[in-house]
Amino acid sequence: MDKVETKAAYSCNGEVTVTRKRQDYLEWPEYFMAVAFLSAQRSKDPSSQVGACIVNQENKIVGIGYNGMPNGCDDDLMPWSRSAEDKLDTKYPYVCHAELNAIMNKNSADVKGCSMYVALFPCNECAKLIIQAGIKDVIYLSDKYHDSPEMTASRRLLNLAGVQYRQFKPKRSRIVLDFSAIDPSAMNGVSVSEEVHSS
Ligand SMILES: [Zn+2]
Repeated sequence: MDKVETKAAYSCNGEVTVTRKRQDYLEWPEYFMAVAFLSAQRSKDPSSQVGACIVNQENKIVGIGYNGMPNGCDDDLMPWSRSAEDKLDTKYPYVCHAELNAIMNKNSADVKGCSMYVALFPCNECAKLIIQAGIKDVIYLSDKYHDSPEMTASRRLLNLAGVQYRQFKPKRSRIVLDFSAIDPSAMNGVSVSEEVHSS
């Protein structure tokens, strides 16, 4: 149960006004998963956008990543297809998964003992990285490739290495970001349906 903070203020007629903290604020797990999802919006991959967020034991975010081509490899020159006659013409040999990028992007000396929030259950290659980086648990939202060899191998590795994993059960299905919430008048000239395109 959350502690309810109360603040008493006396108005001029002597009545007590009690102000309590907001109750519908984001809890930490929802917040970290939402950061992973927001990061995924940076992905150029037309078929799969995945984000990951690494959090230390003090609930501080120490790494964020999303799936994308390696640094310096032009997104416009790389293939993004899922299938092709030649595997070299698909994205798979090249793309860096969100987990890899989150670990590589860490802003702390290491991520030992940290938790990773990630939209999709990690593949076997990412499981190797998670284990070697010392991440202690993985919180994922979707496990849609559960029966694939990659995910089966991943579970085998994580189990042997003692990395915990659990599915995130969100309390709400959507979190809406509304830029106009802070100041509707600051949004003059921006239409709600306007899309912003940039690399
Ligand atoms: Zn992966």
